[in-house]
Amino acid sequence: MQYNLIDKDKFEPDIASFQRKMGHPFLDQHIFPPKTISVSCTVFREIYHVLGLQTAERGGLLGSANGLVCRFYYDSAGISSDRAYYPSIAQMNRVLKEWAREEIVFSGIIHSHPHDAAALSKRDLEFAGAILKTNPELKSVFFPLVLSAADSAAFRILPYVVDRDSVTVARLCITNQLK
Ligand SMILES: [Zn+2]
Repeated sequence: MQYNLIDKDKFEPDIASFQRKMGHPFLDQHIFPPKTISVSCTVFREIYHVLGLQTAERGGLLGSANGLVCRFYYDSAGISSDRAYYPSIAQMNRVLKEWAREEIVFSGIIHSHPHDAAALSKRDLEFAGAILKTNPELKSVFFPLVLSAADSAAFRILPYVVDRDSVTVARLCITNQLK
């Protein structure tokens, strides 16, 4: 299965229509049992070294096989400012194409935020929504946030999952399983 982030090369959020549609972004932390994002140790380490030690906002792709996030692609072509991360859609779609050949499935986008922004922004939610709209087979998209040790008190991953009508906080599971 090959997914594309979105069809265009650039993501232009339509915040106004998003707000009309969804009201305020909401976070349902009371759904039990929580979803689980299982991440390999290798990917966890890569995320720490790349996103966890550099200033926000930076990001990349997550890919999985057999339900385990086993790939991280750092979007070095993306544009970072201190308040937003602008992903390089064309480059990431190329990576997804390569991954599809190796049967690595797109599972989400991870990016870092400044220490005072522990929630997904409206723009983030709009982007996640656009990805889900472009890929009707996709039920949900992992959208974890990283608070970097470079500009927060400590490195943290906030494991958000966005599906078609809610945002939840998943349980993050780091595993030794190989793949
Ligand atoms: Zn963000």
